[in-house]
Amino acid sequence: MYNFSAGPSTLPKTVLQQVQKELIDFEGSGCSVMEISHRSTIFEKIHNDALNNLRQLLNIPKTHHIVFMQGGAITQNALVPMNLLGVKNNACYAINGIWSAKSALEASRYGHIHHLFNNKDKDIATIPNLKDWNIPHNLNSYAYLHICSNETIDGIEIFDIQNFKQVNLPIVADMSSHILSRPINVSDYAVIYAGAQKNIGIAGLTIAIVHEDMLNQAMTHCPTALNWQAIINANSMYNTPPTFAIYMAGLVFKWLQQEGGLTNIEIQNKHKAEKLYSYIDSSNLYINSVDKVYRSRMNVPFKIKNTNENEHENLNALFLEQAQQYGLLGLKGHKSMGGMRASIYNAMPLEGIDALINFMKSFENQYA
Ligand SMILES: *Cc1c(COP(=O)(O)O)cnc(C)c1O
Repeated sequence: MYNFSAGPSTLPKTVLQQVQKELIDFEGSGCSVMEISHRSTIFEKIHNDALNNLRQLLNIPKTHHIVFMQGGAITQNALVPMNLLGVKNNACYAINGIWSAKSALEASRYGHIHHLFNNKDKDIATIPNLKDWNIPHNLNSYAYLHICSNETIDGIEIFDIQNFKQVNLPIVADMSSHILSRPINVSDYAVIYAGAQKNIGIAGLTIAIVHEDMLNQAMTHCPTALNWQAIINANSMYNTPPTFAIYMAGLVFKWLQQEGGLTNIEIQNKHKAEKLYSYIDSSNLYINSVDKVYRSRMNVPFKIKNTNENEHENLNALFLEQAQQYGLLGLKGHKSMGGMRASIYNAMPLEGIDALINFMKSFENQYA
């Protein structure tokens, strides 16, 4: 079976096997990681190893703090403005898909939100040209520019943030669905945030990476337990952290290191995505309508080309049903998009891509 679910999503098999082995008795301690105090020396080691290994993998400089917390990326949609709009009340949002639109809408409850561009609901999913961006004039009154660098539902990924840097505001990026898929220059970002259940581990852990200059700008009513500075002061243990999710993330970080780190995982991710897109482009039955420059390496939405409306709806359902029987799970597209979506995160092996393409080919031969 191969699991193409967008999140929670497939995990490396060797990691799951290790969890199974350690589940009841962690390293001879006589109890499960789930049962031990977050203040115990056993857990403290798990926690600090995870923080250190994440820092090493992403090459996070000393200027940036790591925050382990809860609430998911959607909670960060409120916490970004709550933590950053206490001094300056304006923020700029680039809207290139469903998640960034949602981020901007939530942020508008806390401050004045300016849209750098709004490309949601356009026929071709893309990022508009720089000359068409609506860059604010009074940049001094703006706290940050928010982007979603991989739109999980729309399948749009931003690979080059040069134009965004030219806006000249601290960049806050929602990287939920592509964090750790390739090396990035963390110094380009003021804040990076991500839920763990896509490309890291299991639901329950949310990661924020925050530049020290972005601290101490929180709104006064920001809850202490959700204030990045307070969490950083407590080494991400202001209150009980999601211990099992941190343990799982730590195992995935070690797995990534064994796989050769992000440079090597990027080569694999590129190869997997190119293989799938090139098949889709060559087929007579399927279509992906994202601008090629921005096609996500992690989330590949595709549709069955429309011939006859009724037949088309039925073919979608039939595709999903037969795929499931073939052992390919989680391919149903997001409800707002319809069609199909293959999420091919770090943990999806090349064999999974091959199995998907084989199935798509035989389905095409039957129905195109
Ligand atoms: C999944 C996702 C979210 C929502 O994450 P939750 O953990 O469910 O809050 C937000 N942004 C992006 C880009 C996502 O992929």
